Amino acid sequence: MSLKISKTEFKKDVMDNCRRLFRKELDEATPQEQYQSVSYAVKDMIVENWIATQKQLTKDDPKIVYYMSMEFLMGRALGNNLINMTAYEDVKEALDELGIDLNFVEDQEPDPALGNGGLGRLAACFLDSLASLGYAAYGCGIRYRYGMFKQKIENGYQVEKPDNWLKYGNPFELRRPEYAKEIRFGGNIRVEYDDETGKTLFKQENYESVLAVPYDYPIVGYDNNQVNTLRIWDAEPIVDFQLDSFDKGDYHKAVEQQNLAKTIVEVLYPNDNHYAGKELRLKQQYFFVSASLQAAVDKYMRNHDDIRKLYEKATFQMNDTHPTVAVAELMRILLDDYQLEWQEAWDVTTKACAYTNHTIMAEALEKWPIDLFSRLLPRVYQIIQEIDRRFIIQVEEMYPGNEDKKRTMGILRDGQVRMANLAIVAGYSVNGVARLHTEILKKRELKDFYEMMPEKFNNKTNGITQRRFLMHGNPLLASWVTEKIGTKAWATDLSLMSGLKKYVDDPKAQQEFMDIKYKNKERLAKYILEHNGIEVDPRSIFDVQVKRLHEYKRQLLNIMHVMYLYNKIKEHPELSFYPRTFIFGAKASAGYIRAKEIIKLINSVADVINNDRSINGKIKVVFIEDYRVSNAEWIFAAADVSEQISTASKEASGTGNMKFMLNGAPTLGTMDGANVEIVEEVGSENAFIFGMSSDEVMNYEKNGGYNPYEIYNNDADIRRVVDQLVDGTYADGDTERYRDLYNSLLNTNCSDRADMYFILKDFRSYAEAQERVEAAYKDREGWARMALLNTACCGKFSSDRTIEEYAKEIWHLHKIKVEA
Ligand SMILES: *Cc1c(COP(=O)(O)O)cnc(C)c1O
Repeated sequence: MSLKISKTEFKKDVMDNCRRLFRKELDEATPQEQYQSVSYAVKDMIVENWIATQKQLTKDDPKIVYYMSMEFLMGRALGNNLINMTAYEDVKEALDELGIDLNFVEDQEPDPALGNGGLGRLAACFLDSLASLGYAAYGCGIRYRYGMFKQKIENGYQVEKPDNWLKYGNPFELRRPEYAKEIRFGGNIRVEYDDETGKTLFKQENYESVLAVPYDYPIVGYDNNQVNTLRIWDAEPIVDFQLDSFDKGDYHKAVEQQNLAKTIVEVLYPNDNHYAGKELRLKQQYFFVSASLQAAVDKYMRNHDDIRKLYEKATFQMNDTHPTVAVAELMRILLDDYQLEWQEAWDVTTKACAYTNHTIMAEALEKWPIDLFSRLLPRVYQIIQEIDRRFIIQVEEMYPGNEDKKRTMGILRDGQVRMANLAIVAGYSVNGVARLHTEILKKRELKDFYEMMPEKFNNKTNGITQRRFLMHGNPLLASWVTEKIGTKAWATDLSLMSGLKKYVDDPKAQQEFMDIKYKNKERLAKYILEHNGIEVDPRSIFDVQVKRLHEYKRQLLNIMHVMYLYNKIKEHPELSFYPRTFIFGAKASAGYIRAKEIIKLINSVADVINNDRSINGKIKVVFIEDYRVSNAEWIFAAADVSEQISTASKEASGTGNMKFMLNGAPTLGTMDGANVEIVEEVGSENAFIFGMSSDEVMNYEKNGGYNPYEIYNNDADIRRVVDQLVDGTYADGDTERYRDLYNSLLNTNCSDRADMYFILKDFRSYAEAQERVEAAYKDREGWARMALLNTACCGKFSSDRTIEEYAKEIWHLHKIKVEA
C-alpha cells in the first residue's frame, strides 16, 4: 500500500496527534509522546484496511482459523506494521523532515512480550504469515497485564523485574466491550429434566464469574491491504450483569469477582517447556478458551443458522496442550447452549479442533489433578468423563483386554486429566513441528495413538517470518538480496533466496556480504558497549547462543567449552587462536534454580576472562541482558556462528536456528529438531554438526543413562573444567557456589540421573566441531561462501511455507483478496 496519504498529510497527522493527546508541539514532546503521536497516525492508516478486511470477510464468508495460544510473543508493532504496509521508507523520510529519527521512535515502544520463547514467537510469525498470504485468521489469547519479566543482571545473577508494558497505554489496541463474554468457574451442576423437550439440562449454580473483554490488535499483511486481528482477552468484574437473583447486592461476591478478575490476567507464567500445575494457570486457560469459543460461535451464528456445520467455517488450532480444554468447552457450548445430541456435538468438535505438539519433555506434559479440575470446571469435567468413557470403549473394541493401551491412552488416569490425550482423542489433526520430532512422536511418545489413528498424524516443520527477521532486523542485507536477485518478491516467497546461489563464488558478492555482516557486528558491538560496558571487537568471530535458558539446550556445554579454551590459551599462549566473542542471551524461569546458576556461571566466567589482560582479548564473553524480540533482531543480523547444541531428541524444532540461517550464520549444532532439515537444505559441509544422534540418546535413556565418570576419569581436560566448578576459580574461592552444577554432571546419587543431558558425553565432539569452525573462519573466502549459502538455502524455513501447509493439509482454507 505504501503511504496511503501524502507525506505532508502524514506529518500533519503526527503533529495534530501530539497536540490533541499531549497539548504539546512535537519538538516539546517526550520520546514516548513522539512514539505515541506517530503510532496513532500509523494506526489511522491501518484502520482503513482493517475495516476493508472485515467487509471482505462478510462478503466472501471464508473458513476462519482461530489460532488459540496462551502466548503471542509479538515484539514491537510500529516498525513491523510500517514494513508490512510498505510505508517504512516514506514514514522515515517524513519523520526526518520533522527532525525525528524513526529508529529512535521505534525504540520507545515497549516490547509486547506476551510469551516465553519459541512457542509464543511461532504464534506471532504465524499471524504475520496468515495475514500476508490472504487467509482469514484470528489469534486468540490473553491480555496479560504483565508480560514476560524484564531481566536485570545484578552481580552476575538474574533478577526479574515486572514488565508493565501497558503503562503508557497501547496505541494499536482497540477495546471491544460489545463482544464481552461471561466466564464461569466452580459451583455445582444441577440436573433438570425438561418435560416438554424430554431433554436433560445441566445448570451451573453457585459459581464465580468474570467478564472477558476483548482487545483487538491489527495484524497487517504484507503489501496486500489485509489486516487480520489478534484478539486478546482482559478480565473485568461483572458489575451490572444479571447474576442469580439472590446474589444481587452481595458485597462479598462483588469483591471476590474483583479479585478474580484482577488476578486471572495479571501475569504470564514465565515457564518454558515446563508444567507447574498451578490453579491460576488452569483458570487462565479456561478463561481465554471459553471467551474465544463463545465469540467464534456467536460470529458464526450471526450469518449461519445450522450450528452442526460450524466446522465448515471455523477451525481451532491449539498451540500445545495449553488451550486443549477447548475441545470440552466446545462440547459444552454445543450440548448445553445449543442442545445438540452428544453424537452431533462430537461430530462438530472432532471436525473443528486440531492440536500441535511442541515437546516430548516429560516435565512439560500438562496433567491436571482431577480434584482441582473438577472443582474449577465441574461441567467441563463431566464432559471429559464422558469423552473418556466412550474412548475407552473404542480402545476395548480395537484391543480387547489390552489394559496397557487403556493405561497409556486414557484421558482420566491416576487421578489426573491428561490434556495431550484429550487433544489427540478429540482433534482431527495432531502435528509435530519438525520432521524428526514428528517421527519421535509416532515411534515413541505417541506410538499407541499413532497405531490407533494414523490418519490424524502429520508434520509441519516450523518457520519464521522474513518480514521481521530480515526486512526489519537486517535492512542492509535485505536491500542487498533484492539487488542481487533482482526482485523484492522474496518478501512473500522466500524460496527466491536460492537466486543468491549463483553468487556464492563471486568474490565481489562475497565481499559485499561480509561487509554487511561487519556493519551489523559493529551495530551489535555498540549495543553491547552501551548495555554491558564490554568492548568487543567486530573482527572477532561472533559465536552466539540466544534462547531460553534450559538444561536441555545446554548453555552449560557452551560455557564449559569456553572454560576449556581459556585453560588451553593460558597453558599455551603461543598457540594460534582466532579471536572469539561468545555471546549469550537467555532468560531463566524465575523458579528454575539450576538455570539461574548457569546464568551466574556464564557471568562469572565472563568476568574472569574479560579482565584477564594476559590473553590479549582472544576470548570475550558477553551475556546480553533481557534477551527479547527487539534485540534478537540485531543479534541474528550480527552472528557469525549459530549455536544450536541441544541434546539430540530434546528440541522439538527450534526457530532461532532458522533466523540465524536467514541472516547468514552457519549452524554449529546437533542433529536435533529442525537442524536436521537445515543441514539437508544447506549441505552438511556448510554446517558444523557434532554429538550423539537422537537414537543414541534415546537408547542410553532406555538403559538408565550412562556413566560420566568414564569420561571424567579418562579425559584430563574435561576433568579440569569440571573440577573448576568446585575449586573456586570462577567463584572468588567459593567452592560451593557451583556444587549443584558439578553434582548434576557427576553425582549419580542426586534425584536425577548423572549428566542427564550428556554434556560430558558430547564434549569432545563439540570441541572438535569448534576447531572446525575456527579453521573454516580463517579461510575468508570459504567462510563468505558458506555464510552466503546459508542465506541462499533458507527458503524452506519461512513461516509462509509452514502456513501454506497448515492451510492446505489441515485447515482447508481459501484465500481472500482485500481491495484497497
Ligand atoms: C526465535 C526466538 C526464540 C526461540 O529460540 P530457540 O533458539 O528456537 O529456542 C526465543 N526467544 C525469542 C525472543 C526469539 O525471537
